[in-house]
Amino acid sequence: MDFSESEKVQSIRGIIRDFMKKEIYPLEPTYRAKGFAAVLPELKAKRIKAKETGLFAAHLPPEWGGAGLSLTEFAHLSEELGKSALGHYVFNVQAPDIGNMEVLLEHGTPEQLERWLRPLARGEIRSCFTMTEPEYAGSNPTWMATTAVKDGDSWVIRGHKWFSSSADGAAFAICMAVTNPDAPKPHQRASMIIVPTSTPGFELVGNLSIMGHKGADHQSHGEVQYHGARVPLENLLGKEGQGFLLAQNRLGAGRIHHCMRWIGICERAFDLMCQHAATRLLAPGRPLGTKQMVQQWIAESRAEIDGARLMVLHAAWKIEREGTSAARTEISTIKFTVARTLQRVLDRAIQTLGGLGMTDDTPLAHWWAHERAGRIYDGADEVHIEAVAKRILRDYGMKVG
Ligand SMILES: Cc1cc2nc3c(=O)[nH]c(=O)nc-3n(C[C@H](O)[C@H](O)[C@H](O)COP(=O)(O)OP(=O)(O)OC[C@H]3O[C@@H](n4cnc5c(N)ncnc54)[C@H](O)[C@@H]3O)c2cc1C
Repeated sequence: MDFSESEKVQSIRGIIRDFMKKEIYPLEPTYRAKGFAAVLPELKAKRIKAKETGLFAAHLPPEWGGAGLSLTEFAHLSEELGKSALGHYVFNVQAPDIGNMEVLLEHGTPEQLERWLRPLARGEIRSCFTMTEPEYAGSNPTWMATTAVKDGDSWVIRGHKWFSSSADGAAFAICMAVTNPDAPKPHQRASMIIVPTSTPGFELVGNLSIMGHKGADHQSHGEVQYHGARVPLENLLGKEGQGFLLAQNRLGAGRIHHCMRWIGICERAFDLMCQHAATRLLAPGRPLGTKQMVQQWIAESRAEIDGARLMVLHAAWKIEREGTSAARTEISTIKFTVARTLQRVLDRAIQTLGGLGMTDDTPLAHWWAHERAGRIYDGADEVHIEAVAKRILRDYGMKVG
């Protein structure tokens, strides 16, 4: 394995670093004070500038307007963009759109690609992914109540979803619904169906209040009701009964993207922690960084961030070579490891900054509130830990259900 940064990756990192410093960081104080909607007009203008870098939706092939980056190349870009909560949106690689673009690209029909992927890739529309339901444990994704029933040339969808990120303002949802309730295996019961949000019977009930914020637009988490929403049969994505398989594939690359974004956050938090430790005086001539406890936080954070990055790049490398299925253990391992690394690094950075760390003068408090969810979405820590341990123990001959 060679994880040295190619000239291409170095150049991409340089372009993004400059862009962030000049175009994105200056927007952060208003964003933190007034929310995402307050900076949206400026962000849209920044998207036009982002396109000029040639790195807009860079994960997509050139025929879809992207830069054709490999998963590992894109991982480096994701880290740089992750240093601000606005970075991924400006470059049109924000969740859940990036995952929806990937699943469309891999499984969409030519008509679906033109109708949905084309405008999504250009940043003209947004999308959401509606799988989790309030009444059923999201940790068991094969168990849900939403159904899609064939009626003539349509699917009729009924069900209740929540945590549909970015549903507010989305042009379409990818809906996970049970289409084959009698399929012998639970993971063959559901399918993915594209539902325009303008469809009668699709209702965005509202945005959930998360850690005191309802959010808006792309930065929101919606509750959705499907009241018999009717869409053509050709809106099926992939094959009938393949919903779970598509979701697993969608989340494989998605976990690489999230983990690298979190490493970007770790790096910025680390930088703030070190700057403060080196310059904040506890007494004349005695910076905070002279204290061994703070030195330990710095050294441990450095080691943990570097270790996390190597693990994620290794998982991306394995997905590229052997596919998502072969890399399941690595994908689960990075998901809980990096989400926890992020929590620890943020906690140490806030502690180092003291009262300043609690204010909204730095991005730390925002991340503390908004990134706690990383240990829950795309599979809670415990689900991934159990999956990793079971696979290891199977190799030792242990029989587990
Ligand atoms: C910010 C955010 C954004 C999200 N975005 C989306 C989205 O866009 N689309 C979408 O469909 N969903 C989304 N989700 C939903 C997310 O995927 C689910 O919350 C997650 O899968 C957990 O499901 P649950 O909330 O139903 O918790 P449950 O399944 O009820 O689990 C509750 C807790 O039980 C514990 N637990 C579960 N299984 C085990 C186990 N095997 N062993 C031990 N402990 C266990 C875990 O600690 C878990 O946190 C989002 C969630 C959040 C917080």
